[in-house]
Amino acid sequence: MNKPIYVTQPSLPDLEEFIPYLQQIWDNKILTNNGPFHQQLEKELAEFLGVPYISLFANGTLALVTALQVLRITGEVITTPYSFVATTHSLWWNNIKPVFVDIEPEFGNLDPAKIEAAITPKTTAILPVHVYGNPCKVNRIQEIADIYGLKVIYDAAHCFGVKHLGQGICNFGDISILSFHATKVFNTMEGGAIVCHDAATKKRIDYLKNFGYAGETTVMAPGINSKMNEMQAALGLVQLKHYHENIEKRKIIADTYRKELSGIKGISFLPIPENTESNHAYFPIFVNEKEYGMSRDQLYEKLKHNNIFGRRYFYPLISEFSMYKGLDSAKPSNLIEANIKADKVICLPIYPDLALKYLNHIVEQLKTK
Ligand SMILES: *Cc1c(COP(=O)(O)O)cnc(C)c1O
Repeated sequence: MNKPIYVTQPSLPDLEEFIPYLQQIWDNKILTNNGPFHQQLEKELAEFLGVPYISLFANGTLALVTALQVLRITGEVITTPYSFVATTHSLWWNNIKPVFVDIEPEFGNLDPAKIEAAITPKTTAILPVHVYGNPCKVNRIQEIADIYGLKVIYDAAHCFGVKHLGQGICNFGDISILSFHATKVFNTMEGGAIVCHDAATKKRIDYLKNFGYAGETTVMAPGINSKMNEMQAALGLVQLKHYHENIEKRKIIADTYRKELSGIKGISFLPIPENTESNHAYFPIFVNEKEYGMSRDQLYEKLKHNNIFGRRYFYPLISEFSMYKGLDSAKPSNLIEANIKADKVICLPIYPDLALKYLNHIVEQLKTK
């Protein structure tokens, strides 16, 4: 196999399908600022995801930064170190102190049993991540938040389209954010969104993403510019039409991995979460060095050598980066399970157009040491 296989490959529709949308943008000269495609995508996504209100963003990180401002979060926020670095950076950009809490071993999400011990008088919110698109223990987290009067902001960047307990995953918590980055299951090249539950909150979100403008001459807060433009929104409309067929293809790949890898000693993968319609966004495996006879990094290098470029999501932990390492909660002794996962994980390639012969090649490489 001399073609490199990357962990993901962005899905794009046929160019011909996109051209009429571009023509319309060129004809009406509306490029951004809540244009017709932007409005249409918000409407279609709210329906598609089964959520009441959605506001589109230029990317997921700005959606996260803004979400914290929408809810006026300050002081300390409890979060997970086992995520993409943008989760914690959103707190840093708001002058909020991150407090890292360990993950539960089953799915790698924030462990509700460890949240209460980390709450202080300064805690105002919990920022969990549905990592790899697998739902957090949403009911337990909400119970804790209710007892202590905390807001819950979900980083749902991995779980576009996931349904849990009979509803869209973004209905849980006070606010959820999504990412439509090129590497995510639904992309607008770059893009993101905030999902909220009421019209007043959506209004505030829409002011804050447009410099704080609340009218022609009124600015209600020092907002940012994080609006999605019309080209991104138009692409989103076309991508949405292909979502289900893409997820079907991902499912076949995930099922094949599960079947083929289940017999390999020392390689494990995550269970299928209960009451959940998955989007098969990632396929993480965990390497037990003793049983497999090769360390995670040895396997990672071997795969690379064979043109298979997995990724060690999420290694290093966010708590290991220099700007966070000094925090008390960043100590490895506080984050035992997170460190175990970070040291063992490799995300295998999974994307709709991953051809069977490449998939077989990957499986073969894992089976032969
Ligand atoms: C991708 C991602 C983000 C950031 O989204 P962008 O659209 O790339 O800014 C945030 N959190 C997590 C968990 C992500 O995977």
